[in-house]
Amino acid sequence: MPTILITGANRGIGLEFARQYAADGWRVIAAARRPGEAEELKQLGVEVEQLDAAEGASIHALADRLKGRAIDVLIANAGVLPRGVDTAEWTKAFATNCIGPTLLAKAFKAHMAAGGKMIAITSKMGSIADNESGGAIAYRSSKAALNAAWRSLSIDWRGDDIALAMLHPGWVQTDMGGAGAAIDPTTSVSGMPATIAGLTRDRTGSFLNYDGQELPW
Ligand code: NDP
Repeated sequence: MPTILITGANRGIGLEFARQYAADGWRVIAAARRPGEAEELKQLGVEVEQLDAAEGASIHALADRLKGRAIDVLIANAGVLPRGVDTAEWTKAFATNCIGPTLLAKAFKAHMAAGGKMIAITSKMGSIADNESGGAIAYRSSKAALNAAWRSLSIDWRGDDIALAMLHPGWVQTDMGGAGAAIDPTTSVSGMPATIAGLTRDRTGSFLNYDGQELPW
């Protein structure tokens, strides 16, 4: 039975990932900041682990607890959309959207099964080439930094049997995306397992839409 680790799995896109992979027979390790309040996640009957995805100490503690477990797919999904551009909000965006996922990838490299995949849930809003509308400075810059960091990991790890990708989930109806977003979480997430399964080492470091299409940097 393959194993998947998902961060920010208590609601939104992360919860839907947990639901779909569990339904497909995967062993799901679902990480949540406050497991005690993760009612929908607990109802799935998956393994729930505590993780503050923005904190290096919490990431390393989880890596220690899961030592010896082989992980086939890691999904760094937890993220925040700051509304303002003050130091506190911007720092939180970087800690959650870029630094945390990058520390997570480094901490879990040793746990990855041969042929394992590491996925960062990024955003098209992190694309500089695609930015025609401006705004969302803290969010955009944190996701652009995530893409840059994971691109470097993918190059640094070319000799390892791991493939990395940055996936844009679409504009999704979650607390973050809002009720007026283009697609529901089921539609978004149902496109991604095939994209993840089809990710090969020769495409490591790709920036992809949820349906597998390449996106501009
Ligand atoms: P939600 O706001 O619905 O959910 C965010 C998830 O991230 C929650 O589970 C939240 O946990 C978790 N999270 C945030 N900060 C932390 C932290 N420090 N430690 C642990 N967990 C944390 O967002 P979505 O589901 O929409 O977003 C998921 C990912 O998809 C994000 O990376 C987002 O940037 C990306 N994305 C979303 C889009 C959309 O349209 N929805 C578009 C493009 C990208 P808690 O409940 O504890 O806050």
